[in-house]
Amino acid sequence: MIRISSNFDSGNIQVVDAQSADDIKLSIVPDNEANFFQWFYFRLQGCKKQPCRLQILNASRAAFPDGWSGYQALASYDRENWFRVSTDYDGTQLVISHTPDYDSVYYAYFVPYSYERHLDLIARTQGMKHCRLLDLGESVEGRAIELLRMTNDQARDNKRNIWITARQHPGESMAECFMEGLLSRLGRIHDPLIESLLEKVVFYLVPNMNPDGTLHGHLRTNALGVNLNREWHEPNMERSPEVYFVLEAMKATGVDLFLDIHGDETLPYIFMLGCQANSNYSERLGSLEAQFKQAFLAASPEFQVEEGYELGRFGTETLKLASNQVGHRFDCLALTLEMPFKDNANLPDLTKGWSAERSNQLGQAILDPIHAVLGQLR
Ligand code: ZN
Repeated sequence: MIRISSNFDSGNIQVVDAQSADDIKLSIVPDNEANFFQWFYFRLQGCKKQPCRLQILNASRAAFPDGWSGYQALASYDRENWFRVSTDYDGTQLVISHTPDYDSVYYAYFVPYSYERHLDLIARTQGMKHCRLLDLGESVEGRAIELLRMTNDQARDNKRNIWITARQHPGESMAECFMEGLLSRLGRIHDPLIESLLEKVVFYLVPNMNPDGTLHGHLRTNALGVNLNREWHEPNMERSPEVYFVLEAMKATGVDLFLDIHGDETLPYIFMLGCQANSNYSERLGSLEAQFKQAFLAASPEFQVEEGYELGRFGTETLKLASNQVGHRFDCLALTLEMPFKDNANLPDLTKGWSAERSNQLGQAILDPIHAVLGQLR
């Protein structure tokens, strides 16, 4: 018997028809109270060695239908090792064709980073040297908004305050893989770059801005269907406590550099967006941004500056976005980082595409440009 299920952490799928393996019909469930959908994650049982044809019927109505062209879905038997499988988009449906080697197989839009995995990350990070775990408040459904504060408390005062947030959009699970990499490098002892950073910087790291959306298998919103990255102009305790508590903590510490980590459904590149659209975007911030990007290019061959969004993409919504609002409010360098769901077209990997491992490595590499601009941040 064929069984398809998604009633687990970060799962998302609805079964329309699963009578025969070569004609399975599915649809992605929209975020609660919202029309956004694109994230899927489900388990298929009972199809060992059978050619399966999994059709996602509502693909063309997803948040970013352009994201499906050139996209290959991910599969895994053990939820550790994920690989790409043959996937086609005909303009209406997304069709995954795969013959599973085993009785149980998982499929997902990207490598899942579940809420349980997030809790594991927090649990092992809090034991790291120079790390403190702070609880900022609660999400809509009462999950902790967790902040990791990392600095060498023995070192001098007058440190720079660097904030990095990830996963406002819960479907962008690569953002938390990135944070995992960044944290693992910050935890390295006897690394002179890390020692130097922790003497001069207080890192404020929020690995998961949206725990409710993560658990529910949402693409873009919190439990109330609110897109957190449009709430930063006036976050609200009822609608968007996740942003409210983080912004209040930022006001208390000040911000000298802000990075907000995301994934992009459509573009097969790693790119960064600055705050050129902000009224206070000055020559100082422009040259800081250029210096940061130059150092990032030197630190990682994955990063590039040729491809990205066109200027003015967010129009009148600009100051509702985290990086623009924080850059404006604190007059600091503020950047959004986007990683692909598909692959990096400049360094393609036919087996895995863009992966959890590469996101992790990029998170480690980001500490180099941070170190490079440290002296000029204020
Ligand atoms: Zn995003």
